[in-house]
Amino acid sequence: MKTRFAPSPTGWMHFGNLRTALFNFLYAQRQKYGFLLRIEDTDRERSTLEFQNGILEDLKWLNLNWTEGPYLQSQRTAIYAKYYAQLEDAGLAYPCFCSEETLAVTRKIQQAAGKPPRYSGTCRNLTPEQIAKKIAAGEQATLRFKVPQDTIIEFVDLIKGPQRFAANDIGDFIIRRADGSASFMFCNAIDDAEMQVSHALRGDDHLTNTPRQIMILNALNLPHPEYGHFAMINGSDGAPLSKRNGSEAVRDLRAQGYLPLAVLNYLARLGHYYSDNDFLSLQGLAERFDLAHISTSPARHDLTHLRHWQKEALMLCSIEEIVEFIKPSIAGVIVESKYAEFATMIRDNILMPEDAMLWVSAVASEGLDFSDAAWQVLDQAGKDFFTIARDCVSKNPNIEFKELADQVKNATNCSGKQLFMPLRVALTGQLHGPELAKMLQFMGGAMAVKRFDWAILKLTTGM
Ligand code: GLU
Repeated sequence: MKTRFAPSPTGWMHFGNLRTALFNFLYAQRQKYGFLLRIEDTDRERSTLEFQNGILEDLKWLNLNWTEGPYLQSQRTAIYAKYYAQLEDAGLAYPCFCSEETLAVTRKIQQAAGKPPRYSGTCRNLTPEQIAKKIAAGEQATLRFKVPQDTIIEFVDLIKGPQRFAANDIGDFIIRRADGSASFMFCNAIDDAEMQVSHALRGDDHLTNTPRQIMILNALNLPHPEYGHFAMINGSDGAPLSKRNGSEAVRDLRAQGYLPLAVLNYLARLGHYYSDNDFLSLQGLAERFDLAHISTSPARHDLTHLRHWQKEALMLCSIEEIVEFIKPSIAGVIVESKYAEFATMIRDNILMPEDAMLWVSAVASEGLDFSDAAWQVLDQAGKDFFTIARDCVSKNPNIEFKELADQVKNATNCSGKQLFMPLRVALTGQLHGPELAKMLQFMGGAMAVKRFDWAILKLTTGM
């Protein structure tokens, strides 16, 4: 038994196809099935090796390891040829010489008459002589599957339940393009059978392909997998998720610093319900994965949820991992021997690697910029407050924060927020952040004096 992921390498992997990979992976893990990877690269114009490698790289980054493959459809032409011949010999497929233009006109007429567009059957009954003549004249032909009339195709969808389609509603469809390449409909079905895929989970944009694929496989006496179709992902505006409304390429998420398990915890819950909100390992996600928990209506992409899982993922990181995470933002400014101390200090105050830059600048930059709100805090405290603080540190550069706060409190009568907020803003430039005791210790007395002098200077000259 096995599931599969069958991406087309015609673009970078996004939330949508990643979730398809994840659901198939989790289901396979849960059921102890294999997980096959197949690259559907028959669209020669749009498929590239770069996209193909990108997909493999993304899957590896996320630890969605396949147990079989990757198989490339571009290398399986001979297999498809065998089945085309079988269908043609049995009279179940025929060459179609209709031009794109003719087909487009027919479709328009059908649509105008309120009918669903279907192939009108022009080439269905050509005689062998007529076919031979057209071929001899150099006419290009696609190959169409002859849909058996007056039959009903029924199957039980693993997610949506019983499905029923009337063959008469489905026109004869193309299984081989004019350039000789296999159509998606055909090679996707053939490969599932040939590769003994037993379960295929995919987006419900493929639901209407399924009766066609079952017909092909039935005609060839091949088994078809059990299919499960889940609802698509919508963007924050309710429209199908696309680059325009929030879908991001997996490689971009990686570049931004999202952690693999954050992305996976987010996506596993997008359209699949987990009874609790615990952050789970890949194994945990798999153990509780249940087809009955997949929703049949579209899920909505929500960046705040992804950020929530990023926070959870960060909380579980070791200090060494946090150091790696923020390295690009701290290298060259923080001395290497203090990486771990710095990481420990700021770990609860960052979500993305670049967030560390704020705290690098708090402890290391010459001057600080203040927001309006921060400026108000300084202004309310007044110059004298900072002169007192500066003098305390000048006299005792190794002073601990508690001692400093006590001395300033005694000299100014400020306490609580009135005491701590101005100290925080002057020392770090921020209204919130890591523990001040740690920040002071990290930056040291000389820098703290510089910070208070800066606040005094700013208050003297005005912002
Ligand atoms: N190559 C197809 C796609 O990317 C696969 C569809 C399927 O899962 O069957 O949409």
